[in-house]
Amino acid sequence: MKNTRTWTRALLALLALFGPWAIDSGSAGEAYYSSGDFADVEKIDAHVHLHGRADRFMAQAIQDHMRILTINVDYPDFPPLADQQRDAVSLKLRYPGQAAFAGAFSVQNFQSPGWTEAALAQVGSALAQGAVGIKIWKNIGMSLKDPDGRYVMLDDPRLEPIFAKLERDHVVLLGHQAEPLNCWLPFDQMTVSSDRDYFREHPQYYMYRHPEMPSHDTILAARDRMLQAHPALRFDAVHLASLEWDVAKVADFLDRFPNANVDLAARLVHLEYQAAANPGKVRHFLIRYQDRVLYGSDEAYGPEDVDPKAVAAVHDGWVADWRFLATSTVLHSPDFAQSFVGMHLPRDVIDKIYRRNTESMFKGAWASPSR
Ligand SMILES: [Zn+2]
Repeated sequence: MKNTRTWTRALLALLALFGPWAIDSGSAGEAYYSSGDFADVEKIDAHVHLHGRADRFMAQAIQDHMRILTINVDYPDFPPLADQQRDAVSLKLRYPGQAAFAGAFSVQNFQSPGWTEAALAQVGSALAQGAVGIKIWKNIGMSLKDPDGRYVMLDDPRLEPIFAKLERDHVVLLGHQAEPLNCWLPFDQMTVSSDRDYFREHPQYYMYRHPEMPSHDTILAARDRMLQAHPALRFDAVHLASLEWDVAKVADFLDRFPNANVDLAARLVHLEYQAAANPGKVRHFLIRYQDRVLYGSDEAYGPEDVDPKAVAAVHDGWVADWRFLATSTVLHSPDFAQSFVGMHLPRDVIDKIYRRNTESMFKGAWASPSR
């Protein structure tokens, strides 16, 4: 026994020679999950967009022990908001304890005097039907304009009564403002190929080509002013708060706003990219902020996804994310050339990021139905 301890200590000292990454990667007594544990551990994907009945998606999610939060968005490529809400309510009723949803409101007729009341009514209707949060999208800051040509920002007084209501009623606001920083960079300076592909396909959102539009800093500064004005607002800053390129920036955001959390949706690749250069820094961030990070994928699924391969791809994406967060496997991403090592987060941290933080942010959302 004593010998084992001596050897363990000697081994740890040896590991320490390899720098902070080695020191961090686990001490005796901590437990870790393996790749194979993926399907058995209770998890929540806090960021998906399901439309239609999505039964095949839900069957896969149940098999993978992945509960879901489906988020409605005021996004022109998605079905109308009324349809999104109807589908989300139906999902919640058909999959009690498995599916929860966040509602949204439309910015149609934003300039009309009755807009705020109409939006508040939409928020009220979503909450009355069981929404556990309300989403606000990047059209605020990037596409909605006033007749004088100025972009409407998140701290606009017309939005104020909505934030005040959510703050007062302890309802989570899910905010997607701005875009990855890559959106403001030329293609050859972008870090990951999925951003390159997205902005080639969506030139209207490619800000490098639109220097006349608000900068990344301007958009996030407006968000931060709104958060400062609502210190009790519970805020889910999706997509790593659009600060995905440097975990130090995300840490600074979380320090400034103690009521905010971040989700990883569609931005885990940016952590992988940083991990290729500096795994210790990324791992240290995830451990330090283990109570503030929510797992989410940003998977979208609708009636057009009739090919069974669509759910297989969702499953594969979930497993790949798990391998990065839970294991110490050497991994590769289609998004960039360098290989990287999984974060090998302790079980406890994995349980928080994958479930417990989300459960405490959206209290009761996945409670089993009362009999
Ligand atoms: Zn999304």
